[in-house]
Amino acid sequence: MDQTADISTSSGGLPARYRGRFAPSPTGPLHFGSLVAAAGSYLEARRHGGEWWVRIDDIDPPREQPGAADDILRTLERFGFQWDGPVRYQHQRQEAHLDAIERLRTLGAAYSCGCTRKDITAAGHLGPNGLVYPGTCRNGLPPGRKPRSLRLCTRGIRVDFEDLLQGPVHCDLERELGDFVIRRADGLFAYHLAAAIDDGALGITHVIRGHDLLWCTPPQIAIQQRLSLSSPTYGHLPVAVNAQGQKLSKQTFAPPLEPKHANTLLWQALAFLQQMPPPELRKAPVSELWSWAAENWELSRLRGHSQALAPMV
Ligand code: GLU
Repeated sequence: MDQTADISTSSGGLPARYRGRFAPSPTGPLHFGSLVAAAGSYLEARRHGGEWWVRIDDIDPPREQPGAADDILRTLERFGFQWDGPVRYQHQRQEAHLDAIERLRTLGAAYSCGCTRKDITAAGHLGPNGLVYPGTCRNGLPPGRKPRSLRLCTRGIRVDFEDLLQGPVHCDLERELGDFVIRRADGLFAYHLAAAIDDGALGITHVIRGHDLLWCTPPQIAIQQRLSLSSPTYGHLPVAVNAQGQKLSKQTFAPPLEPKHANTLLWQALAFLQQMPPPELRKAPVSELWSWAAENWELSRLRGHSQALAPMV
């Protein structure tokens, strides 16, 4: 994936009004990195007089933590976020996901794959984002193989889009990612499929999320294009890292957000987002911080930033 020449994604057919979203997976409590993504997408939506939706990406029960979805929503509330409409849950969208799979199959854009992880490790090559599937089952399952997962065929697919913060992005999907899984061997829908369908079908016009998900955008746009769905405009915010340079996450033991420190944390998130909140607001109530931020928010201050040190880690 490179970011050199200048080509934009068409956004024809999108609703006229800005509609952003925050889409946490309920795998654990929110941390500072999640606050940055939530605040960035929220303020950008509000700046455009747009809507901001919350979608809980609960399509992977083995990775989920009981109670995490409610805990996330309570935390967002305690930080003063106000979302539009009811919260969306991806597990309620299974019919739409299945329908998309059927349409992709009918179009000849998806195929069954009988390979195990071991097969792929043995035959695949290493691309910029891990192992690239070697295409073993592209032209039919080898004799004696049973279908396991479903893959999107990336033959000849190139995705070009203009990221609001990272600039022009070009990806040769076949070479850099390979045919990727849209339905897993355990029957669950893959993240790329669910995100592409829900962002497209639910009329999301702008996806503002962390830079760690930049490489997820080309496969998601590819799915939308195959299904003639509109693609949102994308902007990838810098990712918060710890002193070791690791992205804050459950795996790197990022501390959960403490709602009792909401004002300080929100101030720090705004500072992380290069908005330069005044020092005297450091201890101000969150409502005051939000009012200041709504008036002063400038997404362009983040242009070209891909990561930065989180303040308290
Ligand atoms: N649910 C994904 C996550 O929490 C992110 C989804 C997205 O913003 O596209 O990492």
